[in-house]
Amino acid sequence: MKLIIHRGTHQIGGSCIEVSSGDERLILDIGLPLDSSVCDNIASLPSLRSTGVLPDIKGLYADAEAPLISAVIISHSHLDHYGMIPFIHPDIPVFVGKAASEMITVSQNVMGNNLVFSNRIVNYFKSEEEVSIGSFVITPYLMDHSAFDAYAVLVINNNKKLFYTGDFRSHGRKGVLFNRLLQNVPSPVDVLITEGTMSSRNEELVRTETELQNDISRLMNKNKNLCMFWCSSQNIDRIVSIYKACKQNKRKLVVDIYTAHILSSAANYAKIPHPSKSFEDVLVYFPFHLSQKIGKLDANLLYRYKNFKITRDEMCASPDRYALQIRPSAKSFLGRMNCLHGGCLIYSMWEGYLKEKYSSDFITWLEDKGVSVHKIHTSGHAPMNEIQKLVNALRPGKLIPVHTENPAQFKSLGSDTVLLSDGEVFDF
Ligand SMILES: [Zn+2]
Ligand SMILES: [Zn+2]
Repeated sequence: MKLIIHRGTHQIGGSCIEVSSGDERLILDIGLPLDSSVCDNIASLPSLRSTGVLPDIKGLYADAEAPLISAVIISHSHLDHYGMIPFIHPDIPVFVGKAASEMITVSQNVMGNNLVFSNRIVNYFKSEEEVSIGSFVITPYLMDHSAFDAYAVLVINNNKKLFYTGDFRSHGRKGVLFNRLLQNVPSPVDVLITEGTMSSRNEELVRTETELQNDISRLMNKNKNLCMFWCSSQNIDRIVSIYKACKQNKRKLVVDIYTAHILSSAANYAKIPHPSKSFEDVLVYFPFHLSQKIGKLDANLLYRYKNFKITRDEMCASPDRYALQIRPSAKSFLGRMNCLHGGCLIYSMWEGYLKEKYSSDFITWLEDKGVSVHKIHTSGHAPMNEIQKLVNALRPGKLIPVHTENPAQFKSLGSDTVLLSDGEVFDF
């Protein structure tokens, strides 16, 4: 087999890996770099290629005469792993988890993009069920990650084995999956490509979702006003932690209409709190900007949650009974609430995002309104000691880091580490 990491040997986000055998080629993830904004306009293909946003991969994109790629495999529903799909040739089949594909569709619709999976051949894979793609045999493994329905994949061709982790951790709500993987993966593998996000974030404290839930619960108990939280709508584990903390404190969880759709999609696959008769303690609010976007798309989507609607006045009548999900774009909604003073905000995302002015201005705005800000977060990625466990279990012939800003740190894992550059060909 041959391997080329088109992007990710020295950066986090925008992962794109090509695996080939003879003239059969597969792409593992085709992500948007974290510093690029999403764009689904096919007309922009030449400029995206010339600026390097799209890696130069022959026969992959929509303007190729004929596709030369057998399939694109998407590990999970984070934009830095799937964001370039709108540009790939429509005849190339895509493999993705079914729940992940729904998450992607909901979030892209809300952003006003809808080209991700429309008019494409989409195949849904299931954990530990083999799929044959030409002479490749692919086995996906459901992983614990901050995205719902995330997979690692084992790729076998001609008795050679390559294992790609996608993004993963073991300290989340599905940590048991990691131990299951360690016991079930056929080892040794010839090549292990592992994500290494945390190799440049060693100072970050890694805690379990349950520890986080307890911290959030304590804060909710201490604060007798409105509790707000800011986290990714796609981070289902985190929303479950906040929901459980709400239950411990007799607060109701209030999410915006976009998150209501995401939770309802996830609830088709697992017991996830979502606005419904089964979870009457989950309510929905309708900030103007989101309602407008969703209403334009399909007015019916606005009415789906009308029975679970809560207004500003209702929340402010007894603010200690609610935990309200917020984000900067909800500022105009929040600005007309007279019960923010004395409330608290749980900031539950990577702290690096706060370097963006858009985010830090929002935090300052809340502080000026008398809101106390508490950073309570744990990473969606495995620290190096967990990666070491994976290396020990898989006993790879070669260890290749990806999705990392500090690949050199992998040399300490005691395996035969190969540090590639983007675009370099590696034979095995
Ligand atoms: Zn990622
Ligand atoms: Zn991810």
